[in-house]
Amino acid sequence: MPTALPTRTFSALALLTGLLGLSPRPAPASGPPVAIAIHGGAGTISREDMTPEREAAFRATLEQAVRAGHERLLAGESSLVAVRTAIVLLEDSPLFNAGRGAVFNADGVNELDASVMRGRDRAAGAVASVRRVRNPIDLAIAVMEHSPHVMLAGEGAETFGAEQGIETVDPSWFHTEFRWEQLEAAREKETAGDIVTADFFSTVGAVALDRAGDLAAGTSTGGMTNKRFGRIGDSPVIGAGTFADNASCAVSATGHGEYFIRWVVAYDICARVASGSSLADAADTVVNGVLVEAGGTGGVIAIDAAGDIAMPFNTAGMYRASVDAAGNVFVGIYGDE
Ligand code: ASP
Repeated sequence: MPTALPTRTFSALALLTGLLGLSPRPAPASGPPVAIAIHGGAGTISREDMTPEREAAFRATLEQAVRAGHERLLAGESSLVAVRTAIVLLEDSPLFNAGRGAVFNADGVNELDASVMRGRDRAAGAVASVRRVRNPIDLAIAVMEHSPHVMLAGEGAETFGAEQGIETVDPSWFHTEFRWEQLEAAREKETAGDIVTADFFSTVGAVALDRAGDLAAGTSTGGMTNKRFGRIGDSPVIGAGTFADNASCAVSATGHGEYFIRWVVAYDICARVASGSSLADAADTVVNGVLVEAGGTGGVIAIDAAGDIAMPFNTAGMYRASVDAAGNVFVGIYGDE
């Protein structure tokens, strides 16, 4: 066992539970609140570009992942376990730009980034540009729990993963037709002199609050379609794409990573909460104020110590889902939901 966290058996159970359509047990009327939010990327997501089948598949997978994470919280497990449970399901789905459904870089290769942070002690782990790790979030957790470092990249990260018994797959595991077509479209646009747009972003993430009052955040991505020169975005950068501190909030971001890094988005939201802003105000100010002014497209999911959730985005849509402290389940894709 690489970590003290649940193995794939638990994910399989959660998957089965989701497939059987079982509802999570209702949260107890009293006792500390638990809550969770997840995202599957923000971007130019419109109803016109979506088939009913594809939309249904997105909604079902989002709901399954958020319920699986929530189940862990109701069972008294940590926010880190809940975040990991939800993200593994999203990484294993070909629908999202993370793990299995990761986008291709300019060389036609999938390079994956992920990070995780625990709010209790600001422990953090991250990996960048790994090519064979099935679930990069697990490697990020292993970096946090079993190394003295915060971020490992490339072959070194994979060597560490092998030492930790982290599952690897043949790179063909990450080959999906949809992402290959996206790469070809990006290459054509590039030749036509177009700049990169938000069409080519997306990512997955989760934030959660557990019974012990601990927050956690995690993010996993294939990054940007057609990326080159070893480009790494915000997703594995603590403070930019991921941040968690029990004293303020937990955030996972998705969007144009270069902006999220420079505007230190995840940390900025939590710093505003620490200075007295409500979570909703802080997240909205950064995503729809600071970032819009800067020209950065994307969104975040955020949760605070009371279990309040905010999921603002400045794009047409963001794949997202949550179970709030009262046990209400929400799944959304478009801006008007
Ligand atoms: N933020 C990620 C990156 O820039 C991509 C995304 O969220 O869609 O790599």
